[in-house]
Amino acid sequence: MADLEFDRWFGKTRTLILQPTTLCNLDCVYCYLPHRRLSNEMSPKVAQAIAGSAAELINPNHPLEIVWHGGEPMALSLRRFHALLMPFEQFRNMGQVQHYMQTNATLIDDEWCDLLARHQFRVGVSIDGPAALNARRVDLRGRPAFDRIVRGIDRLREHGIRFSVIAVVGTEGIEQPESLLDALADLGPNTIGLNVEEMEGVNDRRCEITQDQAERFWKGVMDWRRAHRGGPALRELDRLADYLHLARSGKHDEWCRYGLDPIPTVSVDGNVVLMSPELAGIDDNTYGNFLAGNVCSQRIASMLAHAHRLRYVREFMAGLRRCEAECEFWNFCRGAQACNRYFENGSFATTETDYCRLTRQALVTALYNSTKKESAA
Ligand code: SF4
Ligand code: SF4
Repeated sequence: MADLEFDRWFGKTRTLILQPTTLCNLDCVYCYLPHRRLSNEMSPKVAQAIAGSAAELINPNHPLEIVWHGGEPMALSLRRFHALLMPFEQFRNMGQVQHYMQTNATLIDDEWCDLLARHQFRVGVSIDGPAALNARRVDLRGRPAFDRIVRGIDRLREHGIRFSVIAVVGTEGIEQPESLLDALADLGPNTIGLNVEEMEGVNDRRCEITQDQAERFWKGVMDWRRAHRGGPALRELDRLADYLHLARSGKHDEWCRYGLDPIPTVSVDGNVVLMSPELAGIDDNTYGNFLAGNVCSQRIASMLAHAHRLRYVREFMAGLRRCEAECEFWNFCRGAQACNRYFENGSFATTETDYCRLTRQALVTALYNSTKKESAA
């Protein structure tokens, strides 16, 4: 039975994250995935069960986003990946699902491009900027992956496949937003996403970036935006702009209308975790394995109806209550990510994390400070 408190915080599922394989051909220094050296693959039977669940989650007003995320999805054979897509075809043909793939791009070839184009994928490429800032994205022998990533992006462009890029911003990138953005924009993406490095999964190194550095970085990002009006969209700035637009026009309710996406993440064997894909494959003394169920024996809609019984979900809702009561950034932020609370603070019932300080709070503060300076001038 549904739970009033769960329904208060969470809206309908808009995104399903699927892990077609645990394997990745790279070995990035900050990777959070615990099983990326193992080659476990999703079977067509599991994909069929997911599609059965997806049918119940489809919203008539908006396609369900199916995000294929690894491991590295292209570490799977093209034939197997194609078989995994088949159960979703009826929904895609009716415009009810939209496929996305998050990839390191190193394995992209003409055949993959054909498949991506045929199934109308939207592609997100992970790349951290120019070669010098990309040094932590390496292969299994520790060799830089940069040239291979750029070659993969070239293939996408040759095939006319639109893509976005997502960069992890570390201690070097945080000091050079202009050259970082220049290099990313030169690749020709339609959107740039910037993730200030976080502590999550098996990446347990503390973040060394300070709030001051993050505020200067976001100020630099805003300056770059002003100087490159026709350039690619900047995900974080656009989100803030959307919020400000609604808030200024008295439509703040629309910002909150949809609630948080519970983001069910389905791993290769059909197991489902909620709220953060980073929780998949983690076993914890306090929280256990974070599983809400398995798609082969239970529909995702039924898992969501019982999600409030999971300890980590209940604690996260307690954390959200505290955020709402205590945090001046609440109206914009709406609570940020669950996994950061767990990986940084050891509990979901907490509030602030490096992630929210460096990505949400520092962004708003940078905008506030620069607007204040402009009005004083
Ligand atoms: S490409 Fe992604 S999955 Fe692979 S090692 Fe790097 S961060 Fe991890
Ligand atoms: S900024 Fe941090 S503390 Fe504030 S609402 Fe967001 S997650 Fe909560």
